[in-house]
Amino acid sequence: MTASRVLVLNSGSSSVKYQLLDMRDGSRLAAGLVERIGEETSRLKHSPLAAGGESRETTGPIADHDAALKAVARELSRDGLGLDSPELAAIGHRVVHGGKRFTEPTVVDDAVLAEIERLIPVAPLHNPANLTGIRTARALRPDLPQVAVFDTAFHTTMPEAAARYAIDVETADRHRIRRYGFHGTSHAYVSRETARLLGRAPQDVNVIVLHLGNGASASAVRGGRCVDTSMGLTPLEGLVMGTRSGDVDPAVIFHLTRVGGMSTDEIDTLLNKKSGLVGLCGDNDMREIRRRIDEGVEGDEDAARAKLAFDIYIHRLRKYIGAYYAVLGTVDAVVFTAGVGENAAPVRESAIAGLEALGLAVDPGLNAARSAGPRLISPEGARVAVAVVPTDEELEIANQTYALVGGDAAERAGQDDGEGAA
Ligand code: ADP
Repeated sequence: MTASRVLVLNSGSSSVKYQLLDMRDGSRLAAGLVERIGEETSRLKHSPLAAGGESRETTGPIADHDAALKAVARELSRDGLGLDSPELAAIGHRVVHGGKRFTEPTVVDDAVLAEIERLIPVAPLHNPANLTGIRTARALRPDLPQVAVFDTAFHTTMPEAAARYAIDVETADRHRIRRYGFHGTSHAYVSRETARLLGRAPQDVNVIVLHLGNGASASAVRGGRCVDTSMGLTPLEGLVMGTRSGDVDPAVIFHLTRVGGMSTDEIDTLLNKKSGLVGLCGDNDMREIRRRIDEGVEGDEDAARAKLAFDIYIHRLRKYIGAYYAVLGTVDAVVFTAGVGENAAPVRESAIAGLEALGLAVDPGLNAARSAGPRLISPEGARVAVAVVPTDEELEIANQTYALVGGDAAERAGQDDGEGAA
């Protein structure tokens, strides 16, 4: 029997999300989430997907990641899917920052752990939690390959012209300041699935990927390789997001320090947590923003604020579409993904409106329709395809993990007709 299961772990500072996949067909056997680790009211929600049973929820103190993973292992055992099973081939870990060095998924050893640790100064919020997750899983199953899949890896192909900021080279290099980009697993998966939707090989198509979730980023992908992306040293740069500002003049920070009397930490919180859509209108959920706009009447200030937030969001998005069109020269597809990109038809319509001269248009009927799988929303015969392609970062992490630990490439899930990717 070949071991065909992969456990995917996404460890945050106080949470662990997990999925167990069967790589023979990419199906989900179980999925769940542990939240509020370290608090009295920790919560574990486990869905035994293969067994088709009801989700189970338990609350009560879970002290740390070790206790969290042991609790997950117990839940999986209850479904006959325990971590001690010989069918488990590997554990794939999402790691946010892999710097310049990690260009590929990597089997974890002590040297890899040390390098992920060395990158903590550029990813202080994420890498420590990712490391804890890996160390805990390793202690639990020391014999099993642990694979790190990096959010930054897909973007390491960016040319220096796109990756460097125009600041003093020595200062930048000393502090490892450059544009790394994030959401790479999603951009890789979605750009490849888009090529498949077009019936072409990834190396033959140029794609602009718009990953619009609570965090949001755009990327320009030429022939399957990323040539530019909107997030930079950190996930703060680029598009307007749920709570992050995206691009601002860096002098805003000097101004807030000198004139506003704010500390660095206060400005960090302002730009990362209290800006973007929530800072502009009080809501970061696009559904709520659209509701306020659609239900508002003339002179309604609440609706006007929501409309301004929406317009700023769209304006920035259109700027990036235009910029990446120019970066690529020729574009085969513009593709929307993640929570907003997959669900918010008005965002897609407004982002593409009036761009017929670039060969871009959205068919209103196709745009309004819903589907679980990838689909085109551009009119038939359009010069450039516009598409909606649901992202699946867990499947991509599992695929990359499985491919690395010796899973037969032909067996890789999600390589058939896309059903496994829904
Ligand atoms: P992340 O993984 O970054 O937390 P997601 O990709 O899950 O985020 O996206 C979450 C966001 O998607 C929500 O904040 C909301 O704005 C948006 N969203 C989800 N469903 C819908 C919908 N039906 N219509 C419009 N926006 C939606």
